[in-house]
Amino acid sequence: MKRKLENQTAIITGSSSGIGAGVAKSLAREGANVVVNFPTENSREDAEKVLAEIKADGGNGITLRCDVSKEADVKAMFDATREQYGTVDILVNNAGLQKDSPFEEMTIDQWNFVLGVNLTGQFLCAREAIREYLRRGIRPDVSVAAGKIICMSSVHEVIPWAGHANYAASKGGIMLMMKSIAQEFAWKKIRINSICPGAIQTPINRQAWETPEALKDLLTLIPYQRIGVPEDIGKAAVWLASDDSDYVNGASLFVDGGMTLYPGFTTNG
Ligand code: NAD
Repeated sequence: MKRKLENQTAIITGSSSGIGAGVAKSLAREGANVVVNFPTENSREDAEKVLAEIKADGGNGITLRCDVSKEADVKAMFDATREQYGTVDILVNNAGLQKDSPFEEMTIDQWNFVLGVNLTGQFLCAREAIREYLRRGIRPDVSVAAGKIICMSSVHEVIPWAGHANYAASKGGIMLMMKSIAQEFAWKKIRINSICPGAIQTPINRQAWETPEALKDLLTLIPYQRIGVPEDIGKAAVWLASDDSDYVNGASLFVDGGMTLYPGFTTNG
Protein backbone atom coordinates (compact mmCIF):
# COMPACT_ATOMS: atom_id res chain seq x y z
CA MET A 1 0.00 0.00 0.00
CA LYS A 2 1.26 3.49 -0.84
CA ARG A 3 2.33 5.38 2.24
CA LYS A 4 0.49 8.67 2.82
CA LEU A 5 3.51 11.02 2.89
CA GLU A 6 5.85 9.36 0.40
CA ASN A 7 8.42 11.78 -1.15
CA GLN A 8 7.35 14.65 1.09
CA THR A 9 9.65 16.48 3.51
CA ALA A 10 8.59 17.55 6.99
CA ILE A 11 10.28 19.86 9.48
CA ILE A 12 9.21 19.09 13.05
CA THR A 13 10.47 21.74 15.47
CA GLY A 14 11.53 20.65 18.95
CA SER A 15 11.53 16.98 18.01
CA SER A 16 14.38 15.65 20.15
CA SER A 17 11.85 14.71 22.85
CA GLY A 18 8.20 14.26 23.75
CA ILE A 19 5.41 15.03 21.29
CA GLY A 20 7.77 16.28 18.57
CA ALA A 21 9.75 13.02 18.63
CA GLY A 22 6.47 11.06 18.44
CA VAL A 23 5.25 13.15 15.51
CA ALA A 24 8.58 12.78 13.66
CA LYS A 25 8.38 8.99 14.02
CA SER A 26 4.76 8.87 12.83
CA LEU A 27 5.41 11.07 9.77
CA ALA A 28 8.55 9.08 8.88
CA ARG A 29 6.59 5.82 9.10
CA GLU A 30 4.27 7.24 6.40
CA GLY A 31 7.26 7.90 4.14
CA ALA A 32 8.15 11.54 4.87
CA ASN A 33 11.77 12.67 5.09
CA VAL A 34 11.90 14.26 8.52
CA VAL A 35 13.99 17.06 9.95
CA VAL A 36 14.50 16.37 13.65
CA ASN A 37 15.10 19.86 15.04
CA PHE A 38 16.74 20.63 18.39
CA PRO A 39 17.56 24.06 19.95
CA THR A 40 21.03 23.75 21.56
CA GLU A 41 24.04 21.44 21.64
CA ASN A 42 22.65 20.01 24.92
CA SER A 43 19.88 18.28 23.00
CA ARG A 44 21.91 17.14 19.95
CA GLU A 45 22.44 13.65 21.37
CA ASP A 46 18.71 13.20 22.04
CA ALA A 47 17.93 14.31 18.48
CA GLU A 48 20.47 11.81 17.10
CA LYS A 49 18.79 9.06 19.15
CA VAL A 50 15.36 9.94 17.75
CA LEU A 51 16.78 9.89 14.21
CA ALA A 52 18.50 6.54 14.84
CA GLU A 53 15.15 5.05 15.92
CA ILE A 54 13.50 6.47 12.81
CA LYS A 55 16.18 4.95 10.58
CA ALA A 56 15.99 1.59 12.40
CA ASP A 57 12.28 1.64 11.58
CA GLY A 58 13.05 2.14 7.85
CA GLY A 59 12.57 5.93 7.83
CA ASN A 60 14.65 8.80 6.49
CA GLY A 61 15.78 12.10 7.97
CA ILE A 62 18.39 14.50 9.26
CA THR A 63 18.94 16.43 12.48
CA LEU A 64 19.26 20.23 12.45
CA ARG A 65 20.07 22.65 15.27
CA CYS A 66 17.89 25.78 15.28
CA ASP A 67 16.51 28.00 18.02
CA VAL A 68 13.06 28.78 16.60
CA SER A 69 12.94 32.14 18.37
CA LYS A 70 15.89 33.38 16.25
CA GLU A 71 15.13 34.59 12.74
CA ALA A 72 18.57 33.75 11.30
CA ASP A 73 18.46 30.22 12.77
CA VAL A 74 15.04 29.58 11.23
CA LYS A 75 16.13 30.77 7.79
CA ALA A 76 19.25 28.58 8.03
CA MET A 77 17.14 25.52 8.98
CA PHE A 78 14.89 25.97 5.94
CA ASP A 79 17.94 26.55 3.67
CA ALA A 80 19.64 23.40 4.96
CA THR A 81 16.43 21.39 4.47
CA ARG A 82 16.08 22.65 0.90
CA GLU A 83 19.71 21.81 0.25
CA GLN A 84 19.15 18.25 1.46
CA TYR A 85 15.69 17.49 0.07
CA GLY A 86 14.92 20.25 -2.47
CA THR A 87 11.86 21.64 -0.72
CA VAL A 88 9.61 21.46 2.36
CA ASP A 89 6.04 20.11 2.20
CA ILE A 90 5.03 19.95 5.87
CA LEU A 91 5.91 22.13 8.86
CA VAL A 92 4.99 20.96 12.34
CA ASN A 93 5.39 23.97 14.62
CA ASN A 94 5.88 22.00 17.80
CA ALA A 95 8.67 23.59 19.87
CA GLY A 96 7.33 25.00 23.10
CA LEU A 97 8.11 25.45 26.78
CA GLN A 98 6.83 26.76 30.09
CA LYS A 99 8.26 29.23 32.63
CA ASP A 100 5.59 29.22 35.29
CA SER A 101 5.11 31.93 37.88
CA PRO A 102 2.40 33.61 39.95
CA PHE A 103 1.37 36.53 37.77
CA GLU A 104 2.37 39.25 40.23
CA GLU A 105 5.90 37.82 40.36
CA MET A 106 6.32 37.08 36.67
CA THR A 107 9.39 38.81 35.24
CA ILE A 108 9.53 40.38 31.80
CA ASP A 109 12.20 37.78 30.95
CA GLN A 110 9.84 34.90 31.84
CA TRP A 111 7.09 36.50 29.76
CA ASN A 112 9.32 37.23 26.74
CA PHE A 113 11.05 33.85 26.86
CA VAL A 114 7.80 31.87 26.61
CA LEU A 115 6.19 34.18 24.03
CA GLY A 116 9.47 34.26 22.06
CA VAL A 117 9.68 30.48 21.63
CA ASN A 118 6.00 29.46 21.65
CA LEU A 119 4.48 32.26 19.56
CA THR A 120 7.24 34.19 17.76
CA GLY A 121 8.95 30.86 16.99
CA GLN A 122 5.77 29.60 15.32
CA PHE A 123 5.47 32.88 13.39
CA LEU A 124 9.05 32.71 12.09
CA CYS A 125 8.79 29.07 11.00
CA ALA A 126 5.31 29.48 9.48
CA ARG A 127 6.47 32.54 7.51
CA GLU A 128 9.43 30.63 6.11
CA ALA A 129 7.20 27.67 5.18
CA ILE A 130 4.62 29.95 3.51
CA ARG A 131 7.37 31.63 1.45
CA GLU A 132 8.55 28.21 0.28
CA TYR A 133 5.00 27.00 -0.54
CA LEU A 134 4.21 30.21 -2.48
CA ARG A 135 7.47 29.93 -4.40
CA ARG A 136 6.96 26.27 -5.27
CA GLY A 137 3.19 25.77 -5.64
CA ILE A 138 1.54 22.36 -5.78
CA ARG A 139 3.58 19.22 -6.43
CA PRO A 140 0.80 17.08 -7.90
CA ASP A 141 2.81 13.87 -7.60
CA VAL A 142 2.81 14.09 -3.78
CA SER A 143 -0.22 16.12 -2.61
CA VAL A 144 -3.20 18.13 -3.81
CA ALA A 145 -2.15 20.96 -1.45
CA ALA A 146 0.73 23.36 -2.00
CA GLY A 147 1.90 22.78 1.56
CA LYS A 148 0.72 22.06 5.06
CA ILE A 149 1.40 23.66 8.44
CA ILE A 150 0.42 22.08 11.75
CA CYS A 151 0.70 24.28 14.82
CA MET A 152 1.06 22.55 18.19
CA SER A 153 -1.27 24.52 20.38
CA SER A 154 -2.88 23.21 23.59
CA VAL A 155 -6.18 22.86 25.39
CA HIS A 156 -4.92 26.12 26.96
CA GLU A 157 -5.81 28.01 23.82
CA VAL A 158 -9.31 27.91 25.35
CA ILE A 159 -8.87 26.81 29.00
CA PRO A 160 -7.48 29.62 31.19
CA TRP A 161 -4.53 28.48 33.34
CA ALA A 162 -3.77 30.27 36.60
CA GLY A 163 -0.04 30.50 37.30
CA HIS A 164 0.76 30.03 33.61
CA ALA A 165 -0.45 33.30 32.05
CA ASN A 166 2.54 33.52 29.67
CA TYR A 167 1.98 29.96 28.39
CA ALA A 168 -1.81 30.34 27.99
CA ALA A 169 -1.33 33.72 26.25
CA SER A 170 1.11 32.09 23.81
CA LYS A 171 -1.36 29.32 22.97
CA GLY A 172 -4.29 31.75 22.61
CA GLY A 173 -2.06 33.74 20.26
CA ILE A 174 -1.27 30.63 18.22
CA MET A 175 -4.99 30.02 17.73
CA LEU A 176 -5.66 33.36 16.04
CA MET A 177 -2.36 33.44 14.15
CA MET A 178 -3.17 29.97 12.77
CA LYS A 179 -6.75 30.88 11.80
CA SER A 180 -5.70 34.22 10.27
CA ILE A 181 -3.04 32.70 8.04
CA ALA A 182 -5.31 29.74 7.18
CA GLN A 183 -7.78 32.33 5.87
CA GLU A 184 -5.03 34.31 4.13
CA PHE A 185 -3.54 31.39 2.19
CA ALA A 186 -6.41 28.94 1.63
CA TRP A 187 -6.85 30.23 -1.95
CA LYS A 188 -3.19 29.34 -2.55
CA LYS A 189 -4.08 25.75 -1.54
CA ILE A 190 -2.00 25.94 1.61
CA ARG A 191 -3.64 24.17 4.56
CA ILE A 192 -2.96 25.32 8.11
CA ASN A 193 -4.41 23.71 11.23
CA SER A 194 -3.63 23.21 14.91
CA ILE A 195 -3.52 20.21 17.18
CA CYS A 196 -4.54 21.01 20.74
CA PRO A 197 -3.20 18.28 23.01
CA GLY A 198 -4.63 17.67 26.46
CA ALA A 199 -2.32 15.95 28.97
CA ILE A 200 0.31 13.98 27.07
CA GLN A 201 3.00 12.11 29.00
CA THR A 202 6.23 13.99 28.19
CA PRO A 203 9.07 15.77 30.04
CA ILE A 204 7.17 19.11 30.00
CA ASN A 205 4.58 17.93 32.56
CA ARG A 206 6.48 15.21 34.46
CA GLN A 207 5.27 16.47 37.85
CA ALA A 208 1.65 15.87 36.73
CA TRP A 209 2.11 12.10 36.18
CA GLU A 210 5.26 10.84 37.90
CA THR A 211 3.62 9.86 41.22
CA PRO A 212 0.38 7.82 41.60
CA GLU A 213 -1.20 10.71 43.57
CA ALA A 214 -0.38 13.27 40.88
CA LEU A 215 -1.73 10.97 38.16
CA LYS A 216 -4.96 10.38 40.16
CA ASP A 217 -5.47 14.17 40.42
CA LEU A 218 -4.75 14.59 36.72
CA LEU A 219 -7.30 11.94 35.74
CA THR A 220 -10.08 13.95 37.42
CA LEU A 221 -9.58 16.37 34.49
CA ILE A 222 -9.75 13.68 31.78
CA PRO A 223 -13.15 12.07 31.13
CA TYR A 224 -11.53 9.32 29.02
CA GLN A 225 -9.51 8.31 32.12
CA ARG A 226 -6.06 7.92 30.65
CA ILE A 227 -3.12 10.19 30.05
CA GLY A 228 -2.24 10.68 26.37
CA VAL A 229 0.95 9.46 24.70
CA PRO A 230 2.94 11.10 21.89
CA GLU A 231 1.60 8.49 19.41
CA ASP A 232 -1.93 9.89 19.95
CA ILE A 233 -0.65 13.21 18.61
CA GLY A 234 1.47 11.52 15.91
CA LYS A 235 -1.63 9.88 14.43
CA ALA A 236 -3.50 13.19 14.34
CA ALA A 237 -0.48 14.86 12.71
CA VAL A 238 -0.32 12.22 9.95
CA TRP A 239 -3.99 12.83 9.20
CA LEU A 240 -3.62 16.62 9.12
CA ALA A 241 -0.47 16.39 6.97
CA SER A 242 -2.01 14.02 4.44
CA ASP A 243 -4.61 14.55 1.73
CA ASP A 244 -7.08 12.54 3.88
CA SER A 245 -7.85 15.85 5.62
CA ASP A 246 -7.85 17.93 2.42
CA TYR A 247 -11.05 19.81 3.27
CA VAL A 248 -9.84 20.69 6.79
CA ASN A 249 -8.41 24.19 7.06
CA GLY A 250 -8.12 26.58 10.00
CA ALA A 251 -9.27 23.95 12.50
CA SER A 252 -8.19 23.45 16.09
CA LEU A 253 -8.27 19.68 16.56
CA PHE A 254 -8.53 18.83 20.25
CA VAL A 255 -6.79 15.54 21.10
CA ASP A 256 -7.44 15.57 24.81
CA GLY A 257 -9.53 12.62 26.04
CA GLY A 258 -12.35 15.10 26.62
CA MET A 259 -10.44 17.57 28.82
CA THR A 260 -12.25 20.47 27.15
CA LEU A 261 -15.69 18.96 27.99
CA TYR A 262 -15.94 20.67 31.40
CA PRO A 263 -15.23 17.43 33.32
CA GLY A 264 -16.44 19.04 36.58
CA PHE A 265 -19.98 18.65 35.22
CA THR A 266 -19.73 14.87 34.65
CA THR A 267 -22.39 12.65 36.27
CA ASN A 268 -20.06 9.61 36.44
CA GLY A 269 -17.64 8.58 39.19
P1 NAD B 1 8.99 18.62 25.57
O1 NAD B 1 9.60 19.49 26.60
O2 NAD B 1 9.35 17.18 25.55
O3 NAD B 1 9.22 19.19 24.10
C1 NAD B 1 9.44 20.51 23.79
C2 NAD B 1 10.55 20.56 22.78
O4 NAD B 1 10.76 21.89 22.34
C3 NAD B 1 11.88 20.06 23.36
O5 NAD B 1 12.40 19.06 22.50
C4 NAD B 1 12.75 21.30 23.36
O6 NAD B 1 14.12 21.00 23.13
C5 NAD B 1 12.15 22.09 22.22
N1 NAD B 1 12.47 23.51 22.28
C6 NAD B 1 12.40 24.35 23.34
N2 NAD B 1 12.82 25.59 22.99
C7 NAD B 1 13.14 25.53 21.68
C8 NAD B 1 13.64 26.48 20.75
N3 NAD B 1 13.88 27.75 21.11
N4 NAD B 1 13.87 26.06 19.48
C9 NAD B 1 13.64 24.79 19.11
N5 NAD B 1 13.17 23.85 19.94
C10 NAD B 1 12.92 24.21 21.22
O7 NAD B 1 7.41 18.80 25.78
P2 NAD B 1 6.19 18.33 24.86
O8 NAD B 1 5.10 18.01 25.78
O9 NAD B 1 6.62 17.32 23.88
O10 NAD B 1 5.80 19.70 24.13
C11 NAD B 1 5.71 19.84 22.73
C12 NAD B 1 4.63 20.85 22.37
O11 NAD B 1 3.36 20.34 22.77
C13 NAD B 1 4.80 22.20 23.06
O12 NAD B 1 4.44 23.24 22.15
C14 NAD B 1 3.77 22.13 24.18
O13 NAD B 1 3.29 23.41 24.56
C15 NAD B 1 2.68 21.32 23.51
N6 NAD B 1 1.75 20.69 24.44
C16 NAD B 1 2.14 19.67 25.27
C17 NAD B 1 1.21 19.09 26.13
C18 NAD B 1 1.55 17.96 27.04
O14 NAD B 1 0.69 17.56 27.83
N7 NAD B 1 2.72 17.38 26.99
C19 NAD B 1 -0.11 19.55 26.14
C20 NAD B 1 -0.46 20.60 25.29
C21 NAD B 1 0.46 21.16 24.44
